[in-house]
Amino acid sequence: MEKNDRPKICICLTGETIAEDLRILERYRSMVDYAELRADCLDPNERFYIRSFPEKAGLPCILTIRRLQDGGKFEDGEGVRLVLFAKALSFPKAEASANYAFVDLECDFKAPVVEEACHTFGTRIVRSLIYRDSLPENLDTAYDQLTLEEDEIPKLTVNPQNSADFIRFLEWSLQRPKRDQILIARGPYGIVSRILAWRLGSMWTYASPLQYGMEMAAPGHFDPQDLVNIYNFDLVDPDTVIYTLIGQHSIAQSLSPYLHNTAFRKMGKNALLVPTPVDSFSDGLKILEMLGGKGAAITVPFKEDVLPFLAIHSTDVKRIGACNTLVWRDSAWAGYNTDADGFERSLLEFLGKQDISGCRATLIGAGGAAKSIALALFRKGAHALVLNRTYSAGRDLARKYDFSYTHLDDRAIDQISEYSNLIVQATSLGMKGESDPINFYEFKGSEAVFDLIYHPSKTVLLKRAEAAGCRTINGYKMLCYQAAGQYKLWMNEPPPDIYAQLEQPESS
Ligand code: NDP
Repeated sequence: MEKNDRPKICICLTGETIAEDLRILERYRSMVDYAELRADCLDPNERFYIRSFPEKAGLPCILTIRRLQDGGKFEDGEGVRLVLFAKALSFPKAEASANYAFVDLECDFKAPVVEEACHTFGTRIVRSLIYRDSLPENLDTAYDQLTLEEDEIPKLTVNPQNSADFIRFLEWSLQRPKRDQILIARGPYGIVSRILAWRLGSMWTYASPLQYGMEMAAPGHFDPQDLVNIYNFDLVDPDTVIYTLIGQHSIAQSLSPYLHNTAFRKMGKNALLVPTPVDSFSDGLKILEMLGGKGAAITVPFKEDVLPFLAIHSTDVKRIGACNTLVWRDSAWAGYNTDADGFERSLLEFLGKQDISGCRATLIGAGGAAKSIALALFRKGAHALVLNRTYSAGRDLARKYDFSYTHLDDRAIDQISEYSNLIVQATSLGMKGESDPINFYEFKGSEAVFDLIYHPSKTVLLKRAEAAGCRTINGYKMLCYQAAGQYKLWMNEPPPDIYAQLEQPESS
C-alpha cells in the first residue's frame, strides 16, 4: 500500500449552520482528507446553501442527508430529499473541486435523476445500507444489495451487539476481495473497524470533531486528532504489527494505546496497539489471531481467564496466578505479568526509597491486580494486611505470603491502624466515582496512600486521604511502568524513556 492508497479520514460535520461546519473543519484541515456534510443536521434555512459547500470547504466532500430511520435527523419526505440532492448537484462547475466528490445514497433510495447527474458530472455514489441495531444474518446477501452498479462504492454499516457478532463481521470483512468500499461496525464492539479501516479494506474511516463539542455523528466515532495522535492513522500500513488491548467496554478509557503507540512512533516501530472490547478472553484472543497480532495487553477482568490459553507461563504469572501480557513466541502464546514490577517501581519512586522492608501496609482487594501487589510487597519485605469484599479470596491471598487478613468493613479499623505506613487500594471501586472501600476508616495523615485507579485521576479515597494530609499517588505511573515492561517483552529491547516521561493527559 503506497502512502496515497492509505485509508483516509473523513470528518463528519453535523453543525446547524454551514459557517459552523466550516469553522470546525478549519481546525482539523491538516489531518483529514474528506469532509462529509451531514445536511440533515443543518437548520432548514441553511439547506439553501449546500451547493456552495465543496468550494468553501476546499477538500473533497461527501453529501449525506440521513433520514430519521437510518439514525439521521432528516424528517421531511423523500420528495424533499430528492430536491435537495438535485439542488446540491446542480450547475456543476468545470473545476471538479467545486462539486461534491461523493454523494451518499441509501440502497433503497432510487433516484435516476440524481444518479444520472452523478454519472455525468463525476460525483461518485456511496451506496449505503445501515443496520442501526444489529448485524444481518447473512452479510453476503446484505452486501450484494450494494454492488448492483460497478462504479458505486458499497458502504455497509452494522452494529454488533456483542463480541461474537463483531468476530463474525471481522472474519467476513477480512476475506472480502479488495475493492473501493466501506465496511463499518458501529458502537463499542466495532471500534477496531474504525481504527483499522485499512485492514478491513475501507477507503476511509469516519470521525467526529468531538474535541470541539460537535455531536458524534455515529456511535463509536473517534476524534480525528485521536486517530492520528493515538492510533498513528497516518503511519500504519499492511506490514504494521498489531498488538491488542483485551478488556471490557471500559478499555475505551484506557491510556495504554496512548502510551504504547506514542512509544512505537517515537522508536520508529511499525506496530500499533488497538483496544478490543470483548465479552470473554477467548473472543479477545480470536480477534488478536484474526488480525495476525503478535501480542496483547490484558486487563480487567481477563487476567486470570487467559491462563488456560498459555503454552508458557513466566515465573511471575505462576506466582501471581494472573497474566497481563501475551507474547507470540515459538508458535505459541507465552504469558507474562509486568504489574508487580510496575507497581514496585512506582511505589519506590513515590516513597523516595529503595528499601521498604518492615513497612506495614494495608492492601485492599484480592483480584488480579492485588495479587501482583501482594507479590511485590512480599518481595520487598513489607508486612501486609489484606482486606477484601469476598473474605475467602482475601484470606487465600494473605496466606500465600503469610500476611494478615480480615473483613473489609469497620471490624478492620484497629488492624488498619497497625498496618498504616502504606495503604494500597487495588479494587475496582472508585472508577465510577463511587465511595471508597474503606470509608469507615479515618486517615491520620501519616499514611502514604496508593490507589491503582488512574481514571478518574483522583478517586474519592485519594481526595479523602489528601484532605487528611496524607501523601497520595494514583495508578498512572504504575500503568506507565508496567507498559514499559510490556514493550520490553514485545520488542525484545529496553523500553524507551518515554514511558517514564509521558504526563497523564488532563482529560483522562
Ligand atoms: P479484578 O476484577 O481481578 O478484581 C476486582 C477487585 O475489586 C476484587 O478484589 C473485588 O472484590 C473488588 N471489588 C469489585 N467491586 C467491589 C465493590 N463494589 N466493593 C468492594 N470491592 C470490590 O480487577 P483487577 O484486580 O485486575 O483490577 C482492580 C483495579 O486495579 C481496577 O480498577 C484496575 O483498573 C486497577 N489496575 C490498575 C493498574 C495500573 O497499572 N494502574 C494495573 C491493574 C489494575 P471481590 O473479590 O469481592 O470480587
